[in-house]
Amino acid sequence: MSRINLEEDARRLLQQTFGYESFRQGQQQVITHVLNGQDTLAIMPTGGGKSICYQVPAMLLPGLTIVISPLISLMKDQVDALNELGIASTYLNSTLSAEEEFARTEGIKDGHYKLVYVAPERLENFTFQRLLSTINISLIAIDEAHCMSQWGHDFRPSYMKIPQWIEQLQPRPIVLALTATATKDVQNDLKTHLSISEDHAVVTGFARTNLSFQVIKGVDKRAYVTKFVNQRKGEPGIIYVSTRKEAEHIASHLQKKSFTCGIYHGGMSDVDRAASQEDFLYDRVEMMVATNAFGMGINKSNVRYVIHFNLPKNIEAYYQEAGRAGRDGEKGDCILLFGGQDIRTQQFFIEQSDADAKYKQNEFHKLQKMISYCHTESCLQQTILRYFGDDSDEPCGRCSNCLQQGEKQECTREAQMVFSCIKRTRERFGTMMIAQILTGSTNQKIKQFGLDKLPTYGLMNQQTAKSVQSFIDFLVAEDYLQRTNSEYPTIELTERAVNVLLGNEQVMRRIEPELKEPEEQDE
Ligand code: ADP
Ligand code: ZN
Repeated sequence: MSRINLEEDARRLLQQTFGYESFRQGQQQVITHVLNGQDTLAIMPTGGGKSICYQVPAMLLPGLTIVISPLISLMKDQVDALNELGIASTYLNSTLSAEEEFARTEGIKDGHYKLVYVAPERLENFTFQRLLSTINISLIAIDEAHCMSQWGHDFRPSYMKIPQWIEQLQPRPIVLALTATATKDVQNDLKTHLSISEDHAVVTGFARTNLSFQVIKGVDKRAYVTKFVNQRKGEPGIIYVSTRKEAEHIASHLQKKSFTCGIYHGGMSDVDRAASQEDFLYDRVEMMVATNAFGMGINKSNVRYVIHFNLPKNIEAYYQEAGRAGRDGEKGDCILLFGGQDIRTQQFFIEQSDADAKYKQNEFHKLQKMISYCHTESCLQQTILRYFGDDSDEPCGRCSNCLQQGEKQECTREAQMVFSCIKRTRERFGTMMIAQILTGSTNQKIKQFGLDKLPTYGLMNQQTAKSVQSFIDFLVAEDYLQRTNSEYPTIELTERAVNVLLGNEQVMRRIEPELKEPEEQDE
């Protein structure tokens, strides 16, 4: 079949079977590569429409399409939806009875299905391997492909075995890897593991133009959330917290205020979690209070807001979780409530993990970027996109920084004081210590190290240590300073700070808005 015909067929399928008018950005390109037999990497934002990229080719290719997905809970929904559209599909996973599994296996053998969803662990199953050797496989779609990379935030060892497994399939099927969250490192990793050429990586813009990002600091978080959900009654939303205990707390607090609210975390039984997820999916509860155990791939399109009650571990995780808002293309709010004590929790999680030193260092580095997101004065959407290596976009005009009215003030001299203090102490100290030296603290350690003898000691004594610390956070977020990648980071000067010290660059900062008192005290 010629290329033109294939593209026409794909479009007709999209319209007649799926009921969509036209392809979204990137979909057409990915589908064309796949139909031309090329291994492809598709990187599209959450809600970008990745499923269509393998579902349409699955219908047009002669053999079976195997979809590898880590999301057992989602397989059933996806397969039900496909069957409703008249696309014969099934899944194999551990939730099936032996009879059911046998029946499906027979169906696969007899060529009854176009698509089969499996978890990666299934590929190691001997019976399954034997089954595959008897049938014609056209396409392997690897969903959530970032799980294959050590640099991804959801690394899964069973994903590592996929490339090897593919190589032994005869004849070798076409491979399509899909993910929403790939830094340059992850993208390169995936291309290497799957031998995908640069020309066959399709990266669509990551920008989600229907989402508004906000960072909120210095509020009573519980009061903020209570007030927010009250204003947005009847709109589905997700509130992410960092621990199970916190999830229980917030949920029961909101329930006491008569909100209907589901709860989801890793400490609940499978049955309870599934029930909770269903309540949310079918709007039996307004909102979900959850840890990050909730939602990888959750398929609710009309989520109107995602609030992060605590700091996420990195920007990939944040963008993926926040990105669950507005998958239907309508407006969504992504709000991060920043509190400094959350940094400690995340540092602790990293330090406690049994990963090796190099991995931990990388995690600390990513955490620093997440913290900088909270302190930057640049466009939040742009900050995220830059993190993913996409420099193309203009400021979004919708985020809390773009909408911030405050004027900017020059603070080059204060910045120089901070830089010279860091330089004089040979970049050996962290934020708190530098702030204490500059504000002339009489703390024991300062005396002990003789830091009160430094020329920069007390230079900023008209300010509080806290406000100097927040100034340093700002300088880190704007890339004048950087923190080392460790549990107790020290601060170093960057090229940019050197320029400021040499008098070649000015530092401008927005005049601090008055910290708002929460309007509702709810305890
Ligand atoms: P992803 O897996 O990339 O997060 P999905 O494949 O779940 O996204 O698609 C997100 C939503 O967009 C779904 O509701 C889907 O039906 C819809 N969608 C996908 N492609 C199109 C299209 N070409 N036109 C309109 N809607 C689409
Ligand atoms: Zn913006």
